[in-house]
Amino acid sequence: MKKTIVCTLVVVILCTAGATAQQKKKRLRLTLDQKIDMILKNTKPLKFPRGDRLPLFFWHLHTRGNMCGGDEAKIEETLKALDARGLPVIHAWWHNPKAERQQAVMDQCMKLGKIQKRLGLPVYAFAGNTGVGFYRDKDATWHVDKDGNRFPDDTHVEKRPIGCPFAKDGWPAVADQVRAWVKCYRESAVPLDGVWFDWEWAGPSEWNGAWEKCRKCVRCQKELGKDGLKDFTVFQKKIREVRSAMQKTFVDVIHEYFPKATVANYGCYPMGDYRYWYDYYEKYVEGAPAKRVQRAVYRKWYKDEFGLTGYSIGMPVVYGWGPTYGWFDYADTDYRWFQNMLSVFSNSAANRPKGVPLVNWINRFVKLDTTPTDAVPISEEKYRELLWHIWLRGADSMYIWCRNEDILRELVPVHSTYAAALQYKEFLAKGTPLIFDVPETEGPVLSALRLGDRLLVRRTDFGKPPSKDDAFIEVNGKKITIPASMSGKTVVMEIK
Ligand SMILES: [Zn+2]
Repeated sequence: MKKTIVCTLVVVILCTAGATAQQKKKRLRLTLDQKIDMILKNTKPLKFPRGDRLPLFFWHLHTRGNMCGGDEAKIEETLKALDARGLPVIHAWWHNPKAERQQAVMDQCMKLGKIQKRLGLPVYAFAGNTGVGFYRDKDATWHVDKDGNRFPDDTHVEKRPIGCPFAKDGWPAVADQVRAWVKCYRESAVPLDGVWFDWEWAGPSEWNGAWEKCRKCVRCQKELGKDGLKDFTVFQKKIREVRSAMQKTFVDVIHEYFPKATVANYGCYPMGDYRYWYDYYEKYVEGAPAKRVQRAVYRKWYKDEFGLTGYSIGMPVVYGWGPTYGWFDYADTDYRWFQNMLSVFSNSAANRPKGVPLVNWINRFVKLDTTPTDAVPISEEKYRELLWHIWLRGADSMYIWCRNEDILRELVPVHSTYAAALQYKEFLAKGTPLIFDVPETEGPVLSALRLGDRLLVRRTDFGKPPSKDDAFIEVNGKKITIPASMSGKTVVMEIK
């Protein structure tokens, strides 16, 4: 008996050690210089210059300023080689309460910014954690129950509790965190062309357990009123309005110093009534208004959100979130992803106000714990098709997010499609997208841009076997035939 226990213990210890080693192995670590080397080797300079079109943004070109060992000639050469590929190096801001350490990062970013300015390259920043910290002061910003006890809302991201949506005491400190960075550019005479936020779990949300928490808080009860406590749509509107106002403070601070800088945030974009995706930490609230397509539950959204933030660019999130695979029964499994991902983008493109660019986040497959075990990611061929359809429905650029392990899986198809689409720059810049619907049955999918009496068309076929039927686009009452032979090609056609 004793022997068995000893053996079991040994096995447990070995297994634990094995799991730890495996987890460590899974996390691939790469320096920025290693990533740049990989990027330069696996992409080609653009054959068709991008001109006024936006560059292609890539998460793995974020830096706190340090690259090429600080060697200016080498930095210049690298920036030029990346620019020839349409890829900018993006400054990653970091709020550090230790002023000296923050200043050191700022100094490096300013050095990089001055080189970019000298070379005539755009200067973009990723706001990192500078928008985080609204609920740092627990006494002032957490929920309050009827007995005066403070409590957080810990139903969103683990170890990232949020406070009361209606407590505003934390706002000035966060605005100052952003201001410290923006001011530094102004004082260093480095122009700031745009700032990208990835601000999601750091602000209030109506999802997960938020409504329940708010109902127990006396401040929330007062702010939400009777209707907000019993009607989810009213609750959602109030939460989204506060969330938008918080984001507006970022925009205002940046515009105080750089009125023309673009400002945008992950997941904040013009849209219709419904949201076609869930963030990794979001769960549907039973009873909340939604529309259902097969097993997909698309949540009704507060669609004025984007307009209230003051953001200048919309950022729909076109990710192959793992659970999506289980929502649909399409026999052609590529269509389970394609249908959903193109719907996310099209929903924004169809509802954007004139002059608002769209730069969608993109990733082919995001495996979560809730991903069905039999899930097959979208094929590279159909992922490339998806990218073409997004360009032909009006994307201005894309922002690739992925883990280190997936750098080439994402960069190669997205960059090469971006480069190939630049051949049709005039259509992309001046053309009008004609199609925003995505069929709910497998078959041909069409996207088209119209410029004067010409069309730029892409057709892609799904189903087993893929459709061979003619498809049609109607322009000004004229029916234009798009035959199956055009499938998988981008074609310029005359409207006759
Ligand atoms: Zn509250």
